[in-house]
Amino acid sequence: MATACAQTPAATSAAKPNVVIVATGGTIAGAGATSANSATYQAAKVPVDKLIAGIPELSNVANVRGEQAFQIASESFTNEKLLQLGKRVSALVKDPGVDGVVITHGTDTLEETSFFLNLVIRTEKPIVLVGSMRPGTAMSADGMLNLYNAVVLAGTPSARGKGVLVAMNDDILTGRDAAKRINIKTSAFASAWGPLGMVVENQAYWFRAPVKRHTTQSEFDIDTLQSLPEVHIVYGYGNMAPTLYDAAVKAGAKAVIHAGTGNGSVPDYAVETLRRVRSSGIHVIRASRIADGFVIRNSEQPDDKYDWVVAHDLNPQKAKILAALALGKTNSTAELQRIFWEY
Ligand code: ASP
Repeated sequence: MATACAQTPAATSAAKPNVVIVATGGTIAGAGATSANSATYQAAKVPVDKLIAGIPELSNVANVRGEQAFQIASESFTNEKLLQLGKRVSALVKDPGVDGVVITHGTDTLEETSFFLNLVIRTEKPIVLVGSMRPGTAMSADGMLNLYNAVVLAGTPSARGKGVLVAMNDDILTGRDAAKRINIKTSAFASAWGPLGMVVENQAYWFRAPVKRHTTQSEFDIDTLQSLPEVHIVYGYGNMAPTLYDAAVKAGAKAVIHAGTGNGSVPDYAVETLRRVRSSGIHVIRASRIADGFVIRNSEQPDDKYDWVVAHDLNPQKAKILAALALGKTNSTAELQRIFWEY
């Protein structure tokens, strides 16, 4: 990890929780030329100590310090960066002096990082990802309140044991199924299954709890993870080219996620290519390009017969994360499918 650890001074108080903000860049650290630039700006410009200094109210709710892990736009995240970030967060939550961790992150791939951390960090402590849709230089910038809410959440005892969370636009979402579903708007993040709750004026209000395995109940562990296998996504559409699957395999994929139409449907003219891909030892995982709903096994395609896996309700980019972790443990289709049902 790049260790330009910008430490920010914070008044310590026994009554207040200790929260570390790990900054990775994104629009929440972005800057535009004028206050009218809400959509045209440079992401990943403002260092974490400046972000923290810009919200003096943070010191009312927590003892906050910052670390600059990366300064990148999140579309530039790689598997190596995911592993580096995960290992750092794992070390932080093992520190008895840390009550919670906030990760500032670009919104583009925040849903991938949140799911990854939800699967690999063995802790009850709150880990909260946060971003913004407008840079801090813009009128009605959303980053300030989002970050404030994230710090409140990371220091809230009732947030313990709920897995990795996402705090955006006052909502609390689970890192498992939070997804960026609207660009431009500040209401960018949602889950097909709804938010878990909201943060309003320093207070977390809960209405649901996650039921899928995560963090302390997970079989994946960042501390023993050295690398992630390649998994690539092929998008389904009318008149698609089946040779794209071959390109994914050529790029080193150990599994191909088919981001199919509807119920993860596969065009009749592409089935043989996908069966050949599976016969060559590469796993085929049917997901859907539709944001809501879930893919049903053996419905659109005879998955048992073809030895394919379905991604259930995970979108293709989240399916890619789980597939990469699962393939580090098993090469069995039945085991992969079990993992997709359980997480
Ligand atoms: N492209 C930016 C990023 O993901 C967008 C954002 O942060 O909202 O870093």
